[in-house]
Amino acid sequence: MTHSSEKYARNADRTATEDDKRGAKTFARKKACRYCSDKNLQVDFKDQAALKYFVTERGKIIPRRISGNCAKHQRQIAKAIKRARALALIPYLVIQG
Ligand SMILES: [Zn+2]
Repeated sequence: MTHSSEKYARNADRTATEDDKRGAKTFARKKACRYCSDKNLQVDFKDQAALKYFVTERGKIIPRRISGNCAKHQRQIAKAIKRARALALIPYLVIQG
């Protein structure tokens, strides 16, 4: 790697993080676990609408640090998603052209 390309990469990193702070990432900053805050709400593998919230467009399970779930409920959700996949309620993966 040359000096100039290194400099360019560093600058690109800096601008990317600043952009993230302002826009894209702020919506994912939900702190409280929604299953803890609402006791009537329970993790259900038949509830695709709720599970879809914890899955990316590609079908990957969203990590805890982003979804905001507590460890207990993240485990339950991961299991529920895997169950729902086996029942073909939600996809294992989404192939995009
Ligand atoms: Zn919880």
